[in-house]
Amino acid sequence: MPKGNPISKEEFVDIDKEFQSLLQKVKPKCNAEDIENITTAYKLVLEAHKFQRRKSGEPYVFHPIEVARICYEELGLGATSVVAALLHDIVEDTDTTLEEIDQIFGPKIQRIVDGLTKLDGTYNIENKQAENFKKVLSSLVYDVRVVLIKMADRLHNLRTIDSMPKQKQIRIAAETSYIYTPLAHRLGLYNIKTEFNDICMKINEPEGYADILGKLQKTETDRNTYIKEFIQPLSEKLEELNIDFRVMSRPKAISSIWNKIQKKQVPFEEIYDLFAVRIIVNTDTEKEKSYCWQIYSIITDIYKPIPERLKDWITTPKSNGYESLHTTVIGPKGRYVEVQIRSERMDDIAERGFAAHWKYKGVKNNNDVYDKWLDNIRALLDTQHSDALEFLNDFKSNLFQKEVFVFTPNGDMKILPEGATALDFAFEIHSDVGYHATAIKVNNKLVPMGHVLTNGDQIHIVTNKNQKPSEHWLKLTVTGKARSKIRSAMKEEKRQKGIFGKEALERKLKHAKINFADNIDTLVKINGYNSRPDYYFALATGDIKMPDLKTYEIEHNKILRKKLTAAEIIQNNEHEGKPAPSDTEIAGTKKSELAGRSNILIDGESLDQYEFSFALCCNPVKGDDIFGYLTAGKGLKIHRINCKNATHLLANYGYRVLKAEWAGHSQTNFITDLSIIGVDSGPGVIQSITNELSSKLGINIRSFSIEGKEGYFEGKISVFIKNKNQLNLVMNSINKLEGVESVTRVIKD
Ligand code: MN
Repeated sequence: MPKGNPISKEEFVDIDKEFQSLLQKVKPKCNAEDIENITTAYKLVLEAHKFQRRKSGEPYVFHPIEVARICYEELGLGATSVVAALLHDIVEDTDTTLEEIDQIFGPKIQRIVDGLTKLDGTYNIENKQAENFKKVLSSLVYDVRVVLIKMADRLHNLRTIDSMPKQKQIRIAAETSYIYTPLAHRLGLYNIKTEFNDICMKINEPEGYADILGKLQKTETDRNTYIKEFIQPLSEKLEELNIDFRVMSRPKAISSIWNKIQKKQVPFEEIYDLFAVRIIVNTDTEKEKSYCWQIYSIITDIYKPIPERLKDWITTPKSNGYESLHTTVIGPKGRYVEVQIRSERMDDIAERGFAAHWKYKGVKNNNDVYDKWLDNIRALLDTQHSDALEFLNDFKSNLFQKEVFVFTPNGDMKILPEGATALDFAFEIHSDVGYHATAIKVNNKLVPMGHVLTNGDQIHIVTNKNQKPSEHWLKLTVTGKARSKIRSAMKEEKRQKGIFGKEALERKLKHAKINFADNIDTLVKINGYNSRPDYYFALATGDIKMPDLKTYEIEHNKILRKKLTAAEIIQNNEHEGKPAPSDTEIAGTKKSELAGRSNILIDGESLDQYEFSFALCCNPVKGDDIFGYLTAGKGLKIHRINCKNATHLLANYGYRVLKAEWAGHSQTNFITDLSIIGVDSGPGVIQSITNELSSKLGINIRSFSIEGKEGYFEGKISVFIKNKNQLNLVMNSINKLEGVESVTRVIKD
């Protein structure tokens, strides 16, 4: 910040007057230590900012004092916030350090100031903006006051934006609409959100703003007369209730009127809800709802209500904590009037949202909407996001949408964004429930996982430990929580699988005496991949073949490039055109009873030299992705890549793992265990499954057991299978049977 003239004596008098007035307001709620801290903070900022001036020319220190006042007066925050607000720009803009703040005020204040310091900065670059936004939210979960003070800071900067050049105003308005306004909305800071909107409109639509402001002023007297006329009969009846209440009314925000004019294409004169009448009752928390309904009844006795305009947010508050009972009635002269009925507590929360919420923390509240929302943000922050933009997208999906209210089988309410699916709900319960969700019932009916939920749905999730997320699930979910969990599961799986590709490649290069580390990036590039993990994954899944080193130009054990002469291209094609090494009998091997004549290639070579068998934990079937593991005394075991033991084997004995693939034809049968889940429809289920398998598909069943549980069944069936295609056919056929919800392959622990 550029140095300006130091504060003059006259200016100091004004500053001190400003501060003393703040101190007088705060005093009643402070102890001696608070007063001392606030005074110390004031002296510190006065000194630190003394050469700085705002764009308007006034001494900078007016700004932190004003932000502190907003925190106290408009947000209802306490002494700690007042101190932190005074100090909010000191680390960023002066030589004062966080260590000094810590020494003077202690770690609590230091942490808040730290949070405020980090949040500042420009939001020009999209990624940087996202990064900063992520910081705002990180601070939100450890101390909500950071975000609230930040809001007060932004509010004061907007209130004094007139002295800024127009271009800067437009940029700040854009940033405000992008981040601060939605966040204020989500935090229930109604007044701040409205003021943000109005100031942004004044910057972006100055003529529209002036027009509506003028019309509101011109019609004010008429409006007030009408409101008096409307309230009068109500007041008489309300007095009879013998409770403490107040009635107030204020016009709709200019930006809201503007939006309505734009959206509905109506002139100002035709907007009927230019104002709302609010009736606020002062009563105990236990009685507030019943009084609200009594007041509703009084109003609708006098004025005819419009039933579809009744909005009951006292039974089910909005997800930003808003509680109120709204109705629209036909008032004198046939004009529609919106009436809002609420208690003082509800009004406090409606006006100051999150800030007021803590005040009523002790009040018994079945649906602590903020706690639930904070839990969501915490979960979102805990999840690995490869970049902040991904995070921002996930977060935004939680910030802007309308909600549906749904229930667990126990009747616990969950709030999800509109459009959320049954699978989203599973992840909302717990990420483990999401990962393993196999069947979902909504209102006692089995539904597809992507079933869109509606208000009041009761959802029951059936899980199976063998179930796991797939790429496809991203299409079935909308919530940030579910999607980020699925994505990270997918990434982890890709990474896990890629390990096999890497190991195999390492062995291959080692064999050819080519240094892995020196050549891997060349190979990745030559083969057209962006990163090592992508390349490893492609190798592991067989998307591409292991590099044939004969087709590369290699000098001094360093891979240079691919050979590309015409002769070699033809040679390559011929090579690839050859039939795969086939069905050769594996001589001298003691195979497991079922390994039979199946042919497996290890690192692309036939398996002649190994004694091998199929691992019993995962029972691979021809066509599965597999790997070989050299055991200590029992030869080579073939496991499925997604076997539960794979991670353990790879982590500890990676050097014993060999890349394996299927080759040739074989008549081998493999034992496969399947788990079947469905609706319990009696003994008919067993019959239809066995009929399908034995008669229709000619599959031999080894064993079959079934168990019924509360409306659904779980069956275990063990069958002989030739290859993966046949297995897929079997699984699809069972899946299509009536009453069957899911079929999965069993992998033993
Ligand atoms: Mn500031």
